[in-house]
Amino acid sequence: MIDPFGRTINYLRLSVTDRCDLRCTYCMPERMRFLPKAEVLSLDELDRVASAFVRLGVRKLRLTGGEPLVRRDMLYLVERLSRHLASGVLDELTMTTNGHRLAEFAAPLAAAGVKRINVSLDHLEPATYARITRGGDVARVIVGIDAALAAGIAIKLNAVALRDDNADHLVTLAEWAHARGADLSVIEVMPLGSVEADRRDQYLPLTEVRARFAERWTLTDLARSTGGPARYVRTNEGGTIGFITPLTHNFCGGCNRVRLTCTGQLFLCLGDDADADLRTPLRANRDDRLLDAAILAAIERKPERHAFDHRVAKPAVARHMSHTGG
Ligand code: SAM
Ligand code: SF4
Repeated sequence: MIDPFGRTINYLRLSVTDRCDLRCTYCMPERMRFLPKAEVLSLDELDRVASAFVRLGVRKLRLTGGEPLVRRDMLYLVERLSRHLASGVLDELTMTTNGHRLAEFAAPLAAAGVKRINVSLDHLEPATYARITRGGDVARVIVGIDAALAAGIAIKLNAVALRDDNADHLVTLAEWAHARGADLSVIEVMPLGSVEADRRDQYLPLTEVRARFAERWTLTDLARSTGGPARYVRTNEGGTIGFITPLTHNFCGGCNRVRLTCTGQLFLCLGDDADADLRTPLRANRDDRLLDAAILAAIERKPERHAFDHRVAKPAVARHMSHTGG
């Protein structure tokens, strides 16, 4: 699949639920309104639509949410999708999780062919973690990370840089990750959906974070690119740190991904409202011709770039990251 700007689209992020057992302050409001359950695709429908993307050229599939591990029978979907790994048409089946339930799922995920997982962890100190996530238990996340590592799954930590909550803690988080053989990526907070806090107060440009890392380590830029807005460095002690900077730098020119919600709505860009309904063609027919045509037509409408602006309080798009699938 090639979009109008010549970009090859080979990466799908699939939100399997918009629900979550946490309420991170930068992600959603405390009283979040979730999508009506009746509109959510079944696991077999999610398998069918993801498999259509794979047939059309997607090589990497990330299961996300909301919290993917709170969806009942989630392993069934992972095991179904793993057939594409076995047949060689899919290079990677991976997941982003808050890690709360990872201990329970690590071994079966590894058995289904999941080799890498991103775990979101913004702070190691229990009280601060509980405050940022509104009730999360960091000890559970750590047990989950260790279970995944023991199962042979590579772990990358994702931390959202928050001016008031973890600006002073990110070096410690990187040291902690590297001591376990894990990588760390730091993410700029994006204006997605409204939350109680003012996004302009939360926002911490990663230029500042990088400067703090540079006081601790000598950093060498790496050439590695994943087609996303991430750039990687290696520390002189051998650890890897990623900087995901949708706001300070715009890397839309190399974008290779689209996102599907759990109700079958395809978003062509995280920071734009361009979308397509895939649930109607999915349910209209048992064969996939209409579905394939709807996907290909949607790719033709992928926007050139997002419209994020950290100087304004208003969200760039009304929906939250947990809806679109992070
Ligand atoms: N619940 C899972 C988790 O937390 O890893 C998966 C979904 S979550 C929406 C995916 C990622 O988006 C997490 O790393 C989270 O920190 C990040 N995220 C959520 N809201 C964000 C925002 N407004 N700006 C930047 N990152 C955000
Ligand atoms: Fe839930 Fe992930 Fe959003 Fe936190 S970032 S509220 S864990 S979906």
